[in-house]
Amino acid sequence: MMRTAVRTTASVLVFFFGLALIVAQAGGVAITAAVVCDATGKTVNAHPAPRIVIDPGHGGRDAGVSAKNGTRESDITLAISRLLASELEIMGAEIIMTRDGEMALYDENAPNRKMDDMRKRHRVIERAKPDLVVSIHMNSFPGDNSVNGLQCFYHEMGGNGRDIARRIQTHINKTGMFKTRPAMPGDYFILETAYPSVLIECGFLSNPPEAERLATPEYQRTLAAQIAVAIWASLEPDKNPADVPNPAT
Ligand SMILES: [Zn+2]
Repeated sequence: MMRTAVRTTASVLVFFFGLALIVAQAGGVAITAAVVCDATGKTVNAHPAPRIVIDPGHGGRDAGVSAKNGTRESDITLAISRLLASELEIMGAEIIMTRDGEMALYDENAPNRKMDDMRKRHRVIERAKPDLVVSIHMNSFPGDNSVNGLQCFYHEMGGNGRDIARRIQTHINKTGMFKTRPAMPGDYFILETAYPSVLIECGFLSNPPEAERLATPEYQRTLAAQIAVAIWASLEPDKNPADVPNPAT
């Protein structure tokens, strides 16, 4: 589902030292660009509005993993994805959601609902021709319920997802919110696309305290804001060398 980028002047002046949203009209096509200024008003970053597909994992009959307290992955992925979409729209991104409701994309009568769902998500991505795909998931490791934290994944074949995943992971590691981790390759079907794609496992529902946190709107907002900043920074071309080192464990 398409969400229109925030283009009102009311959104100016709200982000960090100052994020201004510039809308220009060129040949009838609206061009949105975000300009980030430092405290003195000097421009420190400017790039054209990136088009980002946000993919809230699971949905409908497919709840994903669940916490002992009943918290379902599909609900948390949707909540965080919506908040992430809002944050990135304020920054100037054009956002396309693969789903923006409780239901997944599968047809009830499809012989393989999961495959139908995934194919339709891929179709959304192909139509959008995005600069970045971000799939949002929650992790689970029942074998050790102390395992926690956020980790970025990329597909070996997927665009330049590896470098973007490494940049996002590096920024998240610097927040000090989690144990530092490297970005890792992952065999996720959603990432098998020609466009730069990353999958973010936002936390472990198998870890009871983390599952509690993930279910609260305050924590979801904090997490979405940090992920948005990390994504935005990962798209800055001049600050990102071609060969991105993987953050240390
Ligand atoms: Zn998942």
